[in-house]
Amino acid sequence: MKWIDLRSDTVTKPTEGMRRAIAAAEVGDDVFGEDPTALRLEERTASLLGKEAGLFVASGTMGNLVALLTHAGRGDEIVLGDRSHTFLYEVGGCAGLGGIHPHVLPNRDDGTLDLSDVEAAIRDASDVHFPRTRVICLENTHNRCGGIALSVEYCDAVGALAKRHGLAVHLDGARLFDAALVRGVEPARFARSADSVMICLSKGLGAPIGSVLCGDRAFIDEARRMRKAVGGGMRQVGILAAAGLYALEHHVDRLAEDHANAARLAAGIDELDGLSCEQAREGAWSNLVYFSVDGKAIGRPDLDARVLAKRLKAQGVLALPLGAGRPRIRMVTHLDVSRSDVDAALDALRSALRGT
Ligand SMILES: *Cc1c(COP(=O)(O)O)cnc(C)c1O
Repeated sequence: MKWIDLRSDTVTKPTEGMRRAIAAAEVGDDVFGEDPTALRLEERTASLLGKEAGLFVASGTMGNLVALLTHAGRGDEIVLGDRSHTFLYEVGGCAGLGGIHPHVLPNRDDGTLDLSDVEAAIRDASDVHFPRTRVICLENTHNRCGGIALSVEYCDAVGALAKRHGLAVHLDGARLFDAALVRGVEPARFARSADSVMICLSKGLGAPIGSVLCGDRAFIDEARRMRKAVGGGMRQVGILAAAGLYALEHHVDRLAEDHANAARLAAGIDELDGLSCEQAREGAWSNLVYFSVDGKAIGRPDLDARVLAKRLKAQGVLALPLGAGRPRIRMVTHLDVSRSDVDAALDALRSALRGT
């Protein structure tokens, strides 16, 4: 059986072309600064983001952690959203490993933080009671807010606010290339309002491993030390960087296909009785599709997201039930999902809802 794996865009396998690039990669010891392919990837990514320098890291989680460790010290505070990946899914690493205090604000459904909430969260540095605020964190596209793309205007407003208060902005841009495509701008336009930006090569871009953290030269020099401290100094890492370079070359423009497939999937899901999909409504959506399952509405109280996911799996379609009590399912389009796979997944959903 050929699986249609819609759980995440992290499940892609390297293409033949990417495997050839990996096999041919020139390598050296990157901790000595001698891996030419890693250096090329760092330069290329930095230039795409309009930043001075880049740092290859093992994962998005490591990129965000290294960025926060570089911007903030023990007892310092960062401002971030309650639905942000960093707050929800990164093991509390900034606090656990860096002693950094998270100041969590509610994310609105469009992935933003209310600017007056952010302003009010910034501590008075002259008061001995308070931790010092150092960083405002944004996420674009916003994963738990449905893969929505923040607007350039909003990011600029956060950047301006941060500047007024002498704070840094860190942008979790795991899917920044998706956001840029949705908003019709270059990724560098979003990076402009941020001091540091992390992008993932291993999501929609289809590389097997790796992320790149970008910022100015001094920031990246210090981040390189922090990466070493968390065990992220890798050696002949050009093997991985070659895949990343290949992805930046070949897999950026095609993200539009993923977005079109996700829109098709969302519209198809929303038509089905018992399912409701937010990404079928107007919005700056990308490649993530979330939908809720209401078995009661179709006279099948036993049918919840978990049961539905199990029935899909029996038909070769993998999806991710999630949330407290798992009332929702996530489906993600990517490099290894074609338009006909989307149609097949919709057929599987129809028959799963019928109870087969
Ligand atoms: C996946 C993801 C990360 C972390 O990336 P890993 O490579 O899985 O550690 C960070 N932020 C967002 C928004 C993500 O979706």
